Amino acid sequence: MSTAVKRNILLTPGPTTTTDSVKWSQVVPDICPREAEFGEIMEHITTELTRVVADSDHYQTILFGGSGTAAVESMICSVPGNEAIVIVNNGAYGKRMCEIAKVYGIDYLEFRSPFDDAIDMAELERLIRSSGRTISHLAVVHHETTTGLLNNVKELGELCRKYHMDMMVDAMSSFAAIPIQMKEMNISFLASSSNKNLQGMPGVSFVIAEKSKLEHLKDKKPRSYYLNLYAQYQYFADHAQMRFTPPVQTLYALRQAIQELKQEGIAERYERYTTSWKTLISGLKKLGLTYIVPEEHHSKIITSIQEPYEGFDFQSMHDFFYSKGIMIYPGKLAELKTFRIANIGDITHKDIETFLELLENYLGTVK
Ligand SMILES: *Cc1c(COP(=O)(O)O)cnc(C)c1O
Repeated sequence: MSTAVKRNILLTPGPTTTTDSVKWSQVVPDICPREAEFGEIMEHITTELTRVVADSDHYQTILFGGSGTAAVESMICSVPGNEAIVIVNNGAYGKRMCEIAKVYGIDYLEFRSPFDDAIDMAELERLIRSSGRTISHLAVVHHETTTGLLNNVKELGELCRKYHMDMMVDAMSSFAAIPIQMKEMNISFLASSSNKNLQGMPGVSFVIAEKSKLEHLKDKKPRSYYLNLYAQYQYFADHAQMRFTPPVQTLYALRQAIQELKQEGIAERYERYTTSWKTLISGLKKLGLTYIVPEEHHSKIITSIQEPYEGFDFQSMHDFFYSKGIMIYPGKLAELKTFRIANIGDITHKDIETFLELLENYLGTVK
């Protein structure tokens, strides 16, 4: 059954290159997901996911079928009450949280911060103090996949403690690589998905929450039917089932991916990513390419690289790499012309070396 599948190198920020064992773990006998056997698999998955970042006695993972944005949307639409929330916007994903809040009519204050530098904490504190409002929550992206900017969640957690706000974190592209401790960092709600650093298949997203905070949502009028976080939590607690049909095979793949994460170790995984990143950066420097975000605020997971010259044709470079089984990613910044290279998934610095050699060839021929 474990025949090798053609290996593509995805230098994209998820879905990533997966192992053959993760791919093959999806080929299983058909099962009704409302069977107890499948419930046990989901319970195992939720406990393991919680343990990545918290103590599973006091925190709970709530699974959804859907891409990562489903979990973020569930968190943003389910958690805040009628009081204002602050959303930090220093990239496309912070902006997305603002857009979600807007759709649901949630009273939010947008805190805009540079896309390539640390958050000015004094400035953020000023906004909170001068707003004249009661602010119940702060929402932030841990790792801004737009640029590779890593926000200092611990510092933000301290600010939240000072102003009695609960923190909601989009940890989509940091979870399972960059260390997170929800309790220490004062994170009450966190969202992530199956297909980034977890190296699973796309289709499962999840919110990890402090159980006591979840219980507070009980009597709140829901803003969404499908993405109702409390209802999904309660239903799973009562039935060991998702409310609606889960992506069964993606969950089998996630179970395998979690096993492989535990085998490798989270710190070791991040070390492997970091080695790939260092290879990438030194190669870029040799080619005279520049990337944004200084190293001390960089995630070492995805790099936003400035286009090498005026009139650069990203699509043609993309097509060149695609024909060689390597997938690269366009930029997401309005302000700067960039393209992005991620170094997550089942790849090593050797794959990055392959990429760099091809990049040198490509740039040599088009110039
Ligand atoms: C990938 C990602 C998301 C979710 O994107 P989907 O396409 O919905 O999976 C959200 N936030 C961040 C920071 C991400 O990197």
